[in-house]
Amino acid sequence: MVRPGTGAGPGSQPHILPWLRVSQDSDRPPLSLESEKDQTGGVGATTYQGAKLALLAAELSALLGPNAVITDRQRLRTYECDGLAQHRVVPGLVALPESAEQIAAVVRACAAQSVPFVARGSGTGLSGGALPHTEGVLIVTSRMRRILEVDPANERAIVEPGVINLDVTKAAEPYGWYFAPDPSSQQVCSVGGNVAENSGGAHCLKYGFTTHHVLGVEVVTPDGELVWLGGTTRDVPGYDLLGTFIGSEGTLGIATKIVVRLTRAPESVRCLLAAFPGVDEAGAAVSAIIADGVTPAAIEMMDALAIEAAEAAVACGYPEGAGAVLIVELDGPAAEVEHTFAAVRRHCTAAGAFEIRVARDADERARFWKGRKSAFAAVGRISPDYIVQDGVIPRTVLPDVLRRITELSAGTGVRVANVFHAGDGNLHPLVLFDEAKPGEAQAAEEVSGAILDLCISYGGSITGEHGVGVDKACHMPRMFSTDDLDTMQRLRRAFDPAGICNPGKVFPTPRLCGEVPGKRKGVHPLQAAGLAEQF
Ligand SMILES: Cc1cc2nc3c(=O)[nH]c(=O)nc-3n(C[C@H](O)[C@H](O)[C@H](O)COP(=O)(O)OP(=O)(O)OC[C@H]3O[C@@H](n4cnc5c(N)ncnc54)[C@H](O)[C@@H]3O)c2cc1C
Repeated sequence: MVRPGTGAGPGSQPHILPWLRVSQDSDRPPLSLESEKDQTGGVGATTYQGAKLALLAAELSALLGPNAVITDRQRLRTYECDGLAQHRVVPGLVALPESAEQIAAVVRACAAQSVPFVARGSGTGLSGGALPHTEGVLIVTSRMRRILEVDPANERAIVEPGVINLDVTKAAEPYGWYFAPDPSSQQVCSVGGNVAENSGGAHCLKYGFTTHHVLGVEVVTPDGELVWLGGTTRDVPGYDLLGTFIGSEGTLGIATKIVVRLTRAPESVRCLLAAFPGVDEAGAAVSAIIADGVTPAAIEMMDALAIEAAEAAVACGYPEGAGAVLIVELDGPAAEVEHTFAAVRRHCTAAGAFEIRVARDADERARFWKGRKSAFAAVGRISPDYIVQDGVIPRTVLPDVLRRITELSAGTGVRVANVFHAGDGNLHPLVLFDEAKPGEAQAAEEVSGAILDLCISYGGSITGEHGVGVDKACHMPRMFSTDDLDTMQRLRRAFDPAGICNPGKVFPTPRLCGEVPGKRKGVHPLQAAGLAEQF
């Protein structure tokens, strides 16, 4: 970690961490997350909090200049949710800083008043991570979209946090490089959001998640200091605080500059689409390909219902009668790709593929991907409402888990369309329901939760890439013991002793989901010690 103003930058050796400390602050009043109810807070409110926010708004306007602080309730509503629209909270106020120093100043002002703050990039998150706080400040990075440096010789670029993911690739492309993390939202999501969520994409089977493509991050800590975690080289001595920060869902500070690793564009890319009678055969092909030592850049699977939705939405023209399709993409040196491509075809045929199409050019490759990339939105064509679930299982149990999901669906009458990154076992079941029909939403929630239980029981995880946010906080105790959660809270409090940085996210609370009733009696020991939050 390097402090600014010392002449040190991301290329310098990191300093020690005097700010990393455990809180002694046990007097902080509890914070509330006023989700799912009408909001009457904000600057205009006549409450104590309203008055406090009005003062803060004036202070922030002085710090940031004109048109950088939003207090008007209608305009605040623009920011009331992220991509998970069922949770909505109108922020107390919104700040639109243009520099790291301005973010630091905003955070310092919040810290001085014990006002909570939440970072927001493009607001595409699918777990409510950027859900605002009704008595807090939403710090939006959309005015920080400068690509500060593209340095192909050192395989890196330095960007501001609001830079759109795909824009990094566009800047690096002329040099023959690109930014590998490729969430399907890459045309709109920010690199800061990618870092906070440790986002992945179709190609993370071969290339890994965001964490594998970030060398350093400049961070505003929750007390408003600017520090560097990591740097511009691949490894720095000491504890891996950069690794801790990546994927921390905006709870440990705000990223204000990011040193990303660039990846050499591959010499050759080949893509095939294989149609199978069902998911069992497609799953067997995936296992055979990986067992053969082939690591495709991507292996994506869609089941019959997901294909039906994609056909209805974008007429992708996948083979008729397919119970499942696989899209397999290989990239790398041309000779290697030719060799492994033959192996992939062989395994698909042996597993029962009844049709294999090979993309002849970039256009055809894009057509193969069109159905897959449209799948989430396409489900709207066959169901008025749906839940996008995100769970992980070991790849080898894919057929078993899919069978169990089918049984669950048949037993409850709740339809589930399956789209997933098959290569790394990251499922995205789309649980369909009609809000207008009594009981359907509840049944869909239950099936969705049961799918996560299945993932855990097979040794998997409750999230692959969309994060925990508010959406899955209540599932955390299903995966982690009380001791595990306590330890995570201690870590969080070491960064954020006052508990003002994106409070109410990631960790379960009884109020949100009735988690482990009766397991703890009285005040939680960590809360009593001022080391954990409860609201
Ligand atoms: C259609 C669609 C497809 C998607 N596909 C994928 C996919 O394939 N893979 C995938 O992983 N995700 C996917 N997502 C989810 C989402 O796009 C990613 O999580 C993305 O990284 C979020 O970026 P954002 O800028 O929108 O972040 P936001 O939604 O604004 O914020 C997300 C979290 O990051 C925090 N945050 C934002 N900026 C900062 C910062 N500068 N410093 C610290 N914390 C910050 C917020 O507080 C919040 O907790 C998809 C979403 C949609 C809507």
